[in-house]
Amino acid sequence: MMPEKVLDCLVVGGGPAGLTAAIYLARFRRRFQVVDAGRSRAALIPTSHNHAGFPDGVRGSVLLGRMAEQARKYGAHIVAGAVTHLSRREDGPFVAIVDGRRIATHTVLLATGIVDREPNLPDVPDAIRRGLVRHCGICDGYEVLGDSVGVLGHGSSGLHEALFLRTYTANVTLLSLGCPLRLTSDERGQAASAGITIVDAPVQHVVIEKDRIRALALRGGDCRSFDVLYSALGSDARSELVRDLGTLVDGKGCVVTDEHQRSSTDGLFAAGDVVRSLDQISVAMGQAAIAATAIHNRLRGMALPRDASGETLSFSPQNLRDRSTAAPGVS
Ligand SMILES: Cc1cc2nc3c(=O)[nH]c(=O)nc-3n(C[C@H](O)[C@H](O)[C@H](O)COP(=O)(O)OP(=O)(O)OC[C@H]3O[C@@H](n4cnc5c(N)ncnc54)[C@H](O)[C@@H]3O)c2cc1C
Repeated sequence: MMPEKVLDCLVVGGGPAGLTAAIYLARFRRRFQVVDAGRSRAALIPTSHNHAGFPDGVRGSVLLGRMAEQARKYGAHIVAGAVTHLSRREDGPFVAIVDGRRIATHTVLLATGIVDREPNLPDVPDAIRRGLVRHCGICDGYEVLGDSVGVLGHGSSGLHEALFLRTYTANVTLLSLGCPLRLTSDERGQAASAGITIVDAPVQHVVIEKDRIRALALRGGDCRSFDVLYSALGSDARSELVRDLGTLVDGKGCVVTDEHQRSSTDGLFAAGDVVRSLDQISVAMGQAAIAATAIHNRLRGMALPRDASGETLSFSPQNLRDRSTAAPGVS
């Protein structure tokens, strides 16, 4: 019987975290695979102006494309698909189910990100692409200088976003969609001191009209128009895969890691938005670089890097060219 091929690493997710790890692992000559379900938050970014190295900004999808190209250049194998189950065999390796296939792997890097809770609007993806609905003042607050801004949130998180956006504009209104705003009197005092308008009547309808957003608070018939609407409704970590492994997650479902991005499950690492941290591309990339290096160092004690066919690698340019088309072992 042929011995089962076990990957050095399975990277779950091909956003900025997963693709950075892919670049590093490929250059460490590791046998690994990236499986990506194709729902990166970065793909929604119309133009990022705060990601270092791009003075004119960069579209999220362009950045992802360039990272994938760079990883593939060194032999990374990136496949479209979803990991639907992750378990651990008694003899050590993890087993992942990817669209019905089984993949055995010594280590796993979870780079699955988070899902934003979106407001109930007719065509949110289009509004996000057009920059009318936004999620992150740190990312694009600078681009609303002097604009009228609405912030949708139910409680303190909405207020925090509204206070943050006061750095950029004096015209900030805090609203809530469908249910009442829950603010303490202290929080109301903070909003008043910062000159933030509060609309207490829950907004019933939000309408996008050409390049503006109109919010209608039915009680009292109040109606407001904004250049931009920030959604501060929160997010959910995509960490359900590690539930059966008993991996430690925090109250928000984010994976808890140490300074080497190791989780509480031996051999399982995590990087990017799925880890509780600042949800930014640069942070996802930094954590992925740390995780990939820790994975490589851990595996160095087990075996030499091997190519897709299981041969120990040599360093000829031909070998590198051949690797860029080779698929790693999948059982
Ligand atoms: C509208 C918007 C604008 C933003 N602007 C900026 C900005 O200007 N600057 C900035 O630094 N950050 C910005 N961000 C944040 C940035 O996009 C994220 O911090 C970054 O994408 C996190 O990268 P990640 O790799 O951790 O997760 P993601 O990019 O979300 O990638 C996770 C990937 O994992 C895949 N996945 C999940 N589960 C599975 C599974 N079971 N199997 C296989 N694949 C799976 C997903 O489909 C997805 O492709 C913005 C976010 C949004 C929503």
